Amino acid sequence: MLYKRLLGYVKPFWKSFLVAVIGYGIYAASSTALAEMMKRLIDGIQNPDASFRLFLPLFVVVMFATRGVGTFLGTYFMSNVARNMVHMLRCDVFNHMLRLPGSYFDNHSSGHLVSRVTYHVEQVTGAGTKAITVLLQEGLFVIGLLCYLFWTNWMLTLLFLAVTPLIGGVVSYTSKRFRRISRRLQRSMGDVTHVASEALTGYRVVRTHGAETYEQERFRAASEANRRQSLKEAATKATSTPVIQILVAISLAILVWFAMSPALMDNMTPGEFVGFITAASLMAKPVRSLSEINNTIQKGLAASGELFGLLDEPLEPDEGTVVPGRLEGRVRFENVHFAYGEDKPEVLKGIDLDIRQGEMIAIVGRSGGGKSTLVGLLPRFYYPTAGRILIDGVPLNDYELAPLRQQIALVSQQVTLFNATIADNIAYGVSNPDRSAVEAAARAAYAHEFIERMSEGYDSLVGDNGVMLSGGQRQRMAIARAIFKDSPILILDEATSALDTESERYIQAALEEVCKGRTTLVIAHRLSTIERADRILVMEQGEVIEQGTHNELLERGGAYAALYQLQFQEA
Ligand code: ADP
Ligand code: MG
Repeated sequence: MLYKRLLGYVKPFWKSFLVAVIGYGIYAASSTALAEMMKRLIDGIQNPDASFRLFLPLFVVVMFATRGVGTFLGTYFMSNVARNMVHMLRCDVFNHMLRLPGSYFDNHSSGHLVSRVTYHVEQVTGAGTKAITVLLQEGLFVIGLLCYLFWTNWMLTLLFLAVTPLIGGVVSYTSKRFRRISRRLQRSMGDVTHVASEALTGYRVVRTHGAETYEQERFRAASEANRRQSLKEAATKATSTPVIQILVAISLAILVWFAMSPALMDNMTPGEFVGFITAASLMAKPVRSLSEINNTIQKGLAASGELFGLLDEPLEPDEGTVVPGRLEGRVRFENVHFAYGEDKPEVLKGIDLDIRQGEMIAIVGRSGGGKSTLVGLLPRFYYPTAGRILIDGVPLNDYELAPLRQQIALVSQQVTLFNATIADNIAYGVSNPDRSAVEAAARAAYAHEFIERMSEGYDSLVGDNGVMLSGGQRQRMAIARAIFKDSPILILDEATSALDTESERYIQAALEEVCKGRTTLVIAHRLSTIERADRILVMEQGEVIEQGTHNELLERGGAYAALYQLQFQEA
């Protein structure tokens, strides 16, 4: 099964593969000729003649030259196949990851995911290049030698082969063990990456909490587990190779014993005898290489098993066929229920909501009430467990995914910036963006001013996730990005929480401009920012408990009025 899938990756490169096999065939044949040469040499010494004197040196040179050509063809074209295959596999894995559903990322750490595309793929490369090379090269050599042996004396050869089941047993036992250890080893490698990347990206938190020893211990434990598995692997490898060699030696000994028996000696010329023994002892090296390479193959198989497991993870469902032009932006929630998992509590408990085109809806309420979850359903990051959502009267799932998302701009609490220029971040995903449109978006988000002050303006790099910008600047970048996207539905999930009151007032003005003609959902903690919303929803524990305009809700004197009172006092 695993082999078959791996072979599927070799298929497109079968021509190179064929050349490599031919190359190794040449290598094996010319190496086997060494035994034949020994035979001729011995026989030649006994009956010397002039032509033989010329033949033998020529034979040596030609044999090694052919072997060299074979080695080149085999090694180069095999690497060609393996490298292409790994490249294809790696890209497949990465592309698949890009389209996995959100829940997959909730359950897997990014460290483990990154180690899949780096470490795991490298293991498959090892199996692909080194192992298949040895497998073909030495495997064909062994076959060549066996043919030669049979040709010279088949009875002796059968005796010689009597021990092969034993060798096979050892190899198969160690293979199983190797694959098990390799799987654990690869997981532990993921742990190492995971812990390191967490501690390194969060270095400020680590230091302010004085958690260096804590992280040290965590990393030590992960690295220790890795060390232990590596040593287990080394132990298995270190025992299996000598055991196999001893078995080969024993069979050689038996062979010599029988070969020297008078009955056999009489039937063979001394040359044939030497040729036979030479061929038999030539077996030792390839057999050793083959048994050593087994662990690399098992590692590669274990890694490809993990990779194929990832490739088998179902993608985000995308069965819709409706490709919207520009949406109007009417949004309707019909009794929407949602839980993050089957065994998790319900986060949304029956949301009914009708949003008109161009309406500005504000959602407020205590943290953990389900506000982010609610808006996250619109770009289909998650799917309702019951009920349905319609946009412009069409059920959300009937839309094709990518064009749907194209119509929704989302600015969330956590701003993600890429280590690229300011302009590329604002026009993220668009190649060769129109500079004046980028600038207009930046102006509308009140970001133009600080961008102008940067040394390279719009061409300045922002660093890893925008470390070179302040929190407020990062947020304005995110808003500029949403404005640039110019989509009919705009979602702002606490998008202004990192801004000071001053810039928030600017952004306020900007947003009012941006919201015109768009359906906007604003989640905000500071109630002052949403007073002018067309409608305010108060969410509590997955339910909308109140809705109305600012004044209506204040008059009602319910939950909103209480929240407002609370913030008013604080201010
Ligand atoms: P709000 O935005 O109103 O603060 P959220 O929608 O972020 O609230 O969260 C609502 C509830 O869902 C919380 O109890 C939170 O623990 C839970 N939750 C949020 N995200 C996830 C997730 N990815 N997996 C599991 N539970 C989650
Ligand atoms: Mg939230």
